[in-house]
Order: sequence, then C-alpha cells, then structure tokens
Amino acid sequence: MDLAFTPEEQSFREEVRAWVRANLPQDTAHKVRHSLRLTRDDLQGWAKILGKKGWLGYGWPRQFGGPGWSAVQKHLFEEECALACAPRIVPFGPVMVAPVIMAYGSPEQQQRFLPGIASGEVWWSQGYSEPGSGSDLASLKTRAERAGDKYIVNGQKTWTTLGQYGDWIFCLVRTSTEGKPQTGISFLLIDMKSPGVTVRPIRLLDGECEVNEVFFDNVEVPAQNLIGEENKGWTYAKHLLSHERTNIADVNRAKRELERLKRIARAEGIWEDTRFRDEIARLEVDVVALEMLVLRVLSAEKSGKNPLDIAGLLKIKGSEIQQRYSELMMLAAGPFSLPFIEEAMEAGWQGDFPGGAVDNAPLAATYFNMRKTTIYGGSNEVQRNIVAQTVLG
Ligand SMILES: Cc1cc2nc3c(=O)[nH]c(=O)nc-3n(C[C@H](O)[C@H](O)[C@H](O)COP(=O)(O)OP(=O)(O)OC[C@H]3O[C@@H](n4cnc5c(N)ncnc54)[C@H](O)[C@@H]3O)c2cc1C
Repeated sequence: MDLAFTPEEQSFREEVRAWVRANLPQDTAHKVRHSLRLTRDDLQGWAKILGKKGWLGYGWPRQFGGPGWSAVQKHLFEEECALACAPRIVPFGPVMVAPVIMAYGSPEQQQRFLPGIASGEVWWSQGYSEPGSGSDLASLKTRAERAGDKYIVNGQKTWTTLGQYGDWIFCLVRTSTEGKPQTGISFLLIDMKSPGVTVRPIRLLDGECEVNEVFFDNVEVPAQNLIGEENKGWTYAKHLLSHERTNIADVNRAKRELERLKRIARAEGIWEDTRFRDEIARLEVDVVALEMLVLRVLSAEKSGKNPLDIAGLLKIKGSEIQQRYSELMMLAAGPFSLPFIEEAMEAGWQGDFPGGAVDNAPLAATYFNMRKTTIYGGSNEVQRNIVAQTVLG
C-alpha cells in the first residue's frame, strides 16, 4: 500500500487549491468557517460555480461530462474544498442519483437529467425513508400504480433533507406486493412541482428545518421516468447507498473542525488543562486513523480492489468523530456555549456574546445538529450489522 502522493498529484492539489481560493465567495466561506446558517443561494451558488468549471460532478467519468479524475484526485479536491471552507456539495444530485442514472438509466434519461445536475441548476432530493421504513427500508409502502403511460403515486416519504428546495426527487416506490419485499420496489424520478406533491417541514433540535415530510396524493408520473426495470429498484438503491456512506465519512471536514476546536480551547483557556488536551489528542488520532482508512480505500481502488466493502466502517467512524468534536467544542466553551441564540446563526450578527470568540457562537446548534450523523445514511447500529456480515465474515 503506497499512501504518499506523487509529484503530479501534489501539483494537481496546488491547482485545485488556487482555483478554489480564487472562486469561493468569501461570505460563504465565512459562514462555513463559523458554522453559520447557509441559505439555498449559498449552497446552490457554490454548486453553480463548480458546475461552470465542470467540477460539480467531480466524481463523474469524462463520458458523462465529468473531469474523469482518479480516486486520489477526487480525494484531494474534497480536501482542498473542505480546508478552504467551501460548503459541502449537496450530494443528492451529483453524488447519489447521477451515478444511478449513468449506470442504469437509458441514453434519453442520461441526456435529459445529467446536464441539470452537472450545472447545479436542478436541485434533487432523496425519497427513500418513510414513517416505519427507515432501517427496514424494504418495507416501504409508497405505491406507484401503472396506468397506461404513467404511474399514479400515493404515499409519504420522510426525513427528506432540504426537500423544501427540491425540484426533483428520486424515490423508491412499491410496484408489486408479490414475493420478497425487495423484489417489488422500483426507482422513480418525480418532478416535485407535480400536482399532488406536498412538502411539510420538520423542525429539528437546532431550530432549523433541514428535513421534511413529502406527501404524494395521486401524483401522475410519466412512465419514462422509471429508471431501469420495474421491480429492480432495490439493486439500484443499494448502488446509491454505498456512495452515500462513503461521502458521509467527511474526514476533510473533521480535519478543519479539529483546528476550530483547538482555537476554541485556546480562546477559553481550557487548552492549559492536560486532561482536555488528552481528549483532543484522542480525537486527532481518530481523525488521522480515519484519514488512513480513506487513503487505504484510495490505494485499493488504484490497485483494482473493491473499495466499497468498507463504506459502512467509514460511515461509523466518520459520524462518531463528527459528534465527538461537537461535544468537545461544547465542553471547551462551557457555559458560554449555551444558551442557544438562534440569531447568532446569521452572518454578521453583532449581538452581545459572553464568550467573546466568534468561533463559539452557534456551538449548541452544531452540537444538536450533529446528533443526526449516527442515524442518517443508515443508522450506525445497522451499519455494524452490515460490517459484521460483509467485512468480518
Ligand atoms: C437529519 C436526517 C436526514 C435524513 N435525510 C434523509 C433523506 O434525505 N432521505 C431519506 O430517504 N432519508 C433520510 N433520513 C432517514 C434516515 O436514513 C433514517 O432515519 C435511518 O435510516 C434510520 O431509520 P429510522 O429513522 O426509521 O429509525 P428506525 O429504523 O426506526 O431505527 C430506530 C432505532 O433502532 C435501531 N435499529 C433498527 N433496526 C435495527 C437492527 N436490525 N439492529 C440493530 N438496531 C436496529 C436503529 O439503529 C435506531 O437506533 C434522514 C435522517 C436524518 C436523521
């Protein structure tokens, strides 16, 4: 296993770094650096800038308009974006549904949907989970009945991240109740502006509405929006989930947040406490270990081995690290991390903040928000079951 970057890879990194620094809007970077509220325009604005450069679909092959980067180049790009405080690329379009459309969509579907994803113009949402069907996803009940050249869709999705902005949603729908639950599921692309689609926000612990319920009431969907074959959606869904779990590990963001934690600890004086520094050191070791794991995946990909076997492991460790740094930030700031002042999430907020350091402002919000990481993308308990079966044997 060779973990060192080649001179070509190093110069690629320099190129990406220079471009990101020159093109990332500074007000957006400021918000990311301090975990402030990002608007739709912040997220989509950056996506469109990347789209113009041809880098929003940074994992795509050239055949579909991507840059055709190697696994290492993709990693370096992600790292440079994170360290420059770029917002995370909203993954539902470029990282999740696009690979499914490339692998299983028809040429017409590829021509119709991929350009809007690559440019950042069209916002996609993920419609998998339902009330009662999260971990047990195959039990999903949203029904799509074929009527001539369309499907009539009825049912409900839930926890739909940023669904309030969605133009389109890719959904798992039930098209058959015969046989095993997995064999009656299809993968359908639905225009969220269709009559009968209702999006209702869910307010979370941090006061934000990051997730939604989406209701389908006799929604007419052209049959040409079906990906691949009817009742084969489970296979396509699994293809997508492995991309989601690798993406969720987010080791580069962890590296950035680790530095923020150190800044807060220094500003609050707790840096002098050796026990607290032990905690930071322990977290740093975990972050470095996760990075090594990611680099091993990259190295395996270079040598042609299947890297997705350990996607579950990456998800478990990455999400635990995200929760840990948010906990340590709270501990470092002590009483100054509370109460949670919602207005402090706005960039430029000048309110009176007892802790002083701007780094502290929305700590409680970040802490609450990070509770999600061990649940979404498949809960960590379920991931452990999968790792036990597929990796440990
Ligand atoms: C912030 C957030 C954003 C999300 N975004 C999206 C999205 O955009 N689109 C989407 O489709 N979904 C989304 N989800 C849904 C997410 O995928 C589910 O919440 C997740 O799969 C868990 O399902 P559940 O919530 O129904 O919990 P349940 O499946 O009911 O699980 C409840 C508890 O039981 C445990 N458990 C369940 N089964 C087992 C088992 N076999 N062995 C051991 N323990 C088990 C779980 O680990 C969990 O602790 C999001 C969730 C969150 C929190």
